[in-house]
Amino acid sequence: MYICAMQLLDGKATAAHIKEQIKKDTAEHIAKGGKQPHLAAIIVGNNPASEAYVGSKIRTCEELGFGSTLKRFEEDITEEALLDEIRHMNDNDEIDGILVQLPLPKHISDDAVINAIDPGKDVDGFHPVSTGRMVLGQKAYLPATPYGMMLMLKHYNIDTKGMHCVVVGRSNIVGTPMALLMSRNSNPGNATVTLCHRHTKNLKEHCLQADIIVAAVGIPKFITEDMVKEGAIILDVGINRIDDPTRKSGKRLVGDVDFDNVKDKCSYITPVPGGVGLMTICGLMMNTLEAAKEHSNID
Ligand code: NDP
Repeated sequence: MYICAMQLLDGKATAAHIKEQIKKDTAEHIAKGGKQPHLAAIIVGNNPASEAYVGSKIRTCEELGFGSTLKRFEEDITEEALLDEIRHMNDNDEIDGILVQLPLPKHISDDAVINAIDPGKDVDGFHPVSTGRMVLGQKAYLPATPYGMMLMLKHYNIDTKGMHCVVVGRSNIVGTPMALLMSRNSNPGNATVTLCHRHTKNLKEHCLQADIIVAAVGIPKFITEDMVKEGAIILDVGINRIDDPTRKSGKRLVGDVDFDNVKDKCSYITPVPGGVGLMTICGLMMNTLEAAKEHSNID
């Protein structure tokens, strides 16, 4: 039996609050003569998860008063044709932010596509220029998922200074930038960070030391109760579709954390769904508004 009272880090409520603020800022920016933020999204092939993610980004643009463009391409589009499309978007002054939904088909290089985006329109924050600026602590478009998690910690006034943060997973889009942001001299931030991956020895011992665990592994229920110290804060990035015969669809979404068994040990935890995923869209929209401000000729 554990004594700490768990609080849910509610992505839905937090995202609603932040989106309301973005909507207000956008209206004020336009009223001052600034340009309407415009996000252009590219989707290649018909991966149902990508369709769902892009669909919700476009709907959020409408909700916030942004313009949007959605371009769809068949799975067999060549890399050169896709790069050409990105160059057109780079040259189109109406567009402030460009996102190419990943994953791409195997014959197209993610790096080539990311590098082709104008860094001034890199609202996903994946371009090497954005990464470089982030590492140096300069003004940068932060990758949307870590940015969303930082917004969540800030929203709940969680003081991470001096905490030990264990990030499990080191992808370029989630784990590595999150480790960096948590270690920066900022609030949230100022944590001591351990970045774990497939070759980490004694992962359980590392996790047991953590005041904050960020789980970004892509394995359902990977972080179990015996890996979590009492009172820990858990941010679960994972989105995994598992079989569930009790559901009409036969499937359900779970995170990288064994939520049901871990939750009572935590001081704070994000649910899946309804946690980090909703914050990712906020990060993207914050970047797009910022890009529109950069592209407007007003103070
Ligand atoms: P990647 O597959 O790119 O990275 C997974 C990371 O986990 C790798 O660094 C890998 O290590 C590490 N890993 C894998 N197995 C182990 C293990 N047994 N022990 C320790 N580390 C391990 O995934 P992403 O970062 O792109 O995504 C992670 C999860 O988050 C996925 O479920 C994805 O769907 C979800 N996601 C959710 C988002 C959201 O908005 N909520 C946004 C993006 C992703 P190594 O480097 O050694 O291979």
